[in-house]
Amino acid sequence: MNCIILGAGLSSLSLAYFLQDNKKADKIIILEKEDKTGGLCRTFTKEGIEYDVGPHIIFSKDEEILDFMNGILGDNIEKHRRSNKIIHKRALVQYPFENDLSKLDDFDKEYCVNSFINNPYENYEAQNMLQFFLKTFGEGITNLYLRPYNEKIWKFDPVFMDTQMVDRIPKPPKEDILKSAKGHTVDGYLHQLYFTYPKHGGTEALIKAISSKLNNKIEIHTNAEVLSIEKKSDKFFINTSKGEFSGDKIISSIPLNLLSKIYKHTPKEILEASKQLKYNSIAICILNVKKDYAKDNYAFMCADKNVIFHRVSKLDFMGGNYTKENSTTYMAEITYRKNDLNDLASDDELISKVVRGLKTIGFIDKDNDVNFSDIRRFEYAYVIYDLNHRKNTDIIKNYFDKEGIYPNGRFGTFEYLNMDKIIRQSKTLAKSLSLN
Ligand SMILES: Cc1cc2nc3c(=O)[nH]c(=O)nc-3n(C[C@H](O)[C@H](O)[C@H](O)COP(=O)(O)OP(=O)(O)OC[C@H]3O[C@@H](n4cnc5c(N)ncnc54)[C@H](O)[C@@H]3O)c2cc1C
Repeated sequence: MNCIILGAGLSSLSLAYFLQDNKKADKIIILEKEDKTGGLCRTFTKEGIEYDVGPHIIFSKDEEILDFMNGILGDNIEKHRRSNKIIHKRALVQYPFENDLSKLDDFDKEYCVNSFINNPYENYEAQNMLQFFLKTFGEGITNLYLRPYNEKIWKFDPVFMDTQMVDRIPKPPKEDILKSAKGHTVDGYLHQLYFTYPKHGGTEALIKAISSKLNNKIEIHTNAEVLSIEKKSDKFFINTSKGEFSGDKIISSIPLNLLSKIYKHTPKEILEASKQLKYNSIAICILNVKKDYAKDNYAFMCADKNVIFHRVSKLDFMGGNYTKENSTTYMAEITYRKNDLNDLASDDELISKVVRGLKTIGFIDKDNDVNFSDIRRFEYAYVIYDLNHRKNTDIIKNYFDKEGIYPNGRFGTFEYLNMDKIIRQSKTLAKSLSLN
């Protein structure tokens, strides 16, 4: 039996890895539109500096998958302790915000503590993301940080987003909030307090490590964009920019909305649901600058709407192979959607807005402090959990499951999945796929 996997990101390569020993799979063909594999886990280079599609780190609550990722990287792994800050009116507040309230000025601190303790929203059932923030953290923490930051990264009002992403966030105990306001900073989100990262090669090292373990049953075709899929009897015929392929089973990691569009038999209601799926694109801007004002920190979250990026990270944090002498390299991330102002802005305009943003937060003094820059855009970056997301994705996925096309991966299933969840999903799918 021939299995065809659409897309060659982490989900597809890890699926091939877990599927390769299945005796019923005679051949596994992977079709990728780009000239190399890796998808969102690719790493690029500018003037010797390697950078990812947004700073990727390896962490997980899933011990088995964490061991798999670290294990397959072998010696090429280094452990780091998180040092992330939220820039709030020029103060550096340790992430997560609610755990370091003493860094706020007295007015903001009192607003956060008082509205947390006297919270009129706490007994409501949250119907959307904003209501969840108000109920869980109170008005101060919501209005000063959570609301503006989420509006900035999602480019979507949290009133129109559901609670799927946030409903597992625990409500902080009252004592912790009071302690945090008095200066006892508490570490939050402990599963990401320590993380690992390849010593060299960026996140793509993980892709290369998995690929090196694939056997000769697996055929990878790059520059093979999937253009259409047709089912005749029980066989699939896939037309690509590199010719036609056929197979008995399809596993798809290409975006679910795109799959609906290129599958020749998709019914109208599935096409309608697909059109409603919402997602964000991302521009990654690299700036190598003369001075280091970020010190021993890695990522800085910025909710200020006058600054174009929502996060800026200091790449040097990851160790010697990611540094360039006498300079510091930052990665700024900007989200956008088709035809919004960031999408319509030229690359040069975005870079000059990033430079302005770095000046606003005090990371550079003047324009000519920038040694060099780079920018890349990626269309599919973040799934938006809008109020109709669950209903729409479930209808579409059920339809394709019945057709014998199995969605897998971040945009393949249209879920906010990090690398660990992707590998877990592939492992589970490899086990459950019936290859009769
Ligand atoms: C900014 C950002 C930061 C992140 N940070 C982290 C992090 O710190 N830690 C973490 O664990 N995870 C992180 N992630 C998530 C991680 O990148 C993803 O979970 C993972 O890369 C998804 O892999 P995938 O294979 O599902 O999807 P993708 O990597 O998107 O792979 C899909 C593939 O399909 C290909 N494709 C699309 N259309 C076609 C077509 N028509 N024909 C053929 N091929 C096609 C694409 O080119 C791509 O290679 C981050 C993601 C982003 C966007």
